[in-house]
Amino acid sequence: MQTTMMKVPLSLNHLLERAGRLFHGSQIVSRLPDKSLKRHSYAEFYRRTRALGAALQALGLRQGERVATLCWNHHAHLEGYFGIPAAGGVMHTLNLRLSPEEIGWIAADAQDRFLLVDDVLLPLYEKFKHLHAFEQVIVVPFSGAPVPPGFTDYEALLAGADADAFVYAPHQEDDPVAMCYTSGTTGRPKGVVYSHRSTVLHSLVGCLPDFTAVRGIDVVLPVTPMFHANSWGMPYIAVMMGAKLVFPGPHLHPDDLLDLITAEPPTLSLGVPTIWMTLIQAYDASLKAGSPNHGRWKLPEGMRSMVGGAAVPESLIRAFAAHGIWILQGWGMTETSPVGTLSYPTAALRGASEDERFRRAAMAGVPAPLVELRLRGDAGQDQPWDGQSVGELQVRGPFITGSYFQVGSPDDKFTPDGWLRTGDVATVDELGFMRIADRTKDLIKSGGEWISSVDLENALMAHSAVAEAAVIAIPDDKWGERPLACVVPKPGEQATPEALNQLLLSKGFAKWQLPERYEFIDAVPRTSTGKFWKLKLRERFSS
Ligand code: ADP
Repeated sequence: MQTTMMKVPLSLNHLLERAGRLFHGSQIVSRLPDKSLKRHSYAEFYRRTRALGAALQALGLRQGERVATLCWNHHAHLEGYFGIPAAGGVMHTLNLRLSPEEIGWIAADAQDRFLLVDDVLLPLYEKFKHLHAFEQVIVVPFSGAPVPPGFTDYEALLAGADADAFVYAPHQEDDPVAMCYTSGTTGRPKGVVYSHRSTVLHSLVGCLPDFTAVRGIDVVLPVTPMFHANSWGMPYIAVMMGAKLVFPGPHLHPDDLLDLITAEPPTLSLGVPTIWMTLIQAYDASLKAGSPNHGRWKLPEGMRSMVGGAAVPESLIRAFAAHGIWILQGWGMTETSPVGTLSYPTAALRGASEDERFRRAAMAGVPAPLVELRLRGDAGQDQPWDGQSVGELQVRGPFITGSYFQVGSPDDKFTPDGWLRTGDVATVDELGFMRIADRTKDLIKSGGEWISSVDLENALMAHSAVAEAAVIAIPDDKWGERPLACVVPKPGEQATPEALNQLLLSKGFAKWQLPERYEFIDAVPRTSTGKFWKLKLRERFSS
């Protein structure tokens, strides 16, 4: 006998219905390839999304089949986020920054049936189409040009579908809604599949006040790509709350982002640290008299910015705070939906000094509600939460993947008792604040002692002449490995190894932890998701 609550399955469709009913007037702004802005109301989004669902069903999409997307961040991609699962399909976001060979391999591995692609990305599609035959290629006329023959026109498809007669595909809450492949920096890319249930729970947690606190009156700028890790879940969260969305389209250069931020000031923005580093440098340079961009931009005071995907240096947090913008650091992975931890002032930090708040903001933060976290040492023992003991980070929770598409739950990814092995090495302190020391493969072991590349990088990036710094291990006959620092100086500035070492010593690094060598380079190579690509640096410098 059921004596408790109703068993109503958690469903993304509920978020869409709610948005259609409650938030008709909210706006979705998309930057088009020609840099103009296109506006849709939520009422239009709701109708178009249901039309997409109806059209996919009319094309014969069956329950659980994958519909791939190869799109920038914009309104039509958002329609895919909801319309594909509404029809019973699984939205599979393809990462347009991967090589054509990788994209083709991933589409074939996922057995994607249909593809939704931006017209401006058709040249990329042409390069991998021999690797996987989609049954139908639906082209979003994003640039406004006519869709080339041989493809299905997205707008014509929607216009021909009956949104009013659309009926949601029946589903259970554990049925899949979306999938994303890991970027494969540590092996073959693997598909992570999200469910209605995991997505709704992640969305609820994501807008808690002690989290990103997304509200209906927010204006949200997701710079994080919708083609990787669901743009940190923000499309779902924003629609759930009816927030205004501002999508940058293909224009991610700092000048373009600053133009967009000035035109449509966000109250919340999201991106990886490398994006915000270049953006704040461009902005601060524009404030100098005589700059060609003097007076062009305005950063919105009071904006929150969620930054993660890689460690966020304290210097970056302070640089934004100087303009009244607070950075919230998060940690996560494709496997964790993706937000697993967030750094915010917890109850224990009531009355903490400003310096302490900054120090905490530069950590990966505390676990989200519903996420459990533990550290395991080399011998498999539980490591204490003392801020010192290092261990492999393992996590568990209802929005953390339990397996990979077609690969299952390999031993190197899951523990026998069912926790995800993140491949990150971390410490956790008494207050539950985590600090990522490194990814396992980036750790530097010198004379039997670990050196955290992340700590060195963050300290180096606090130097006024340093734009970026990435630290890698180089082989060393005597010590096994030693740190090598690759430093990008700010334009017109010079940083010497002596000055940088002096800075590190003043920050409490021991002599043996100082970089063995400095290389001054033009730019740190980036991965497909905009993070520092240390593999490339290792290839270049390790000999
Ligand atoms: P990839 O980096 O291979 O593209 P993901 O996008 O899933 O894959 O990234 C997950 C990884 O990013 C984490 O395992 C961790 O190493 C790193 N990461 C994410 N957030 C942070 C953070 N706040 N601090 C340090 N590292 C982070």
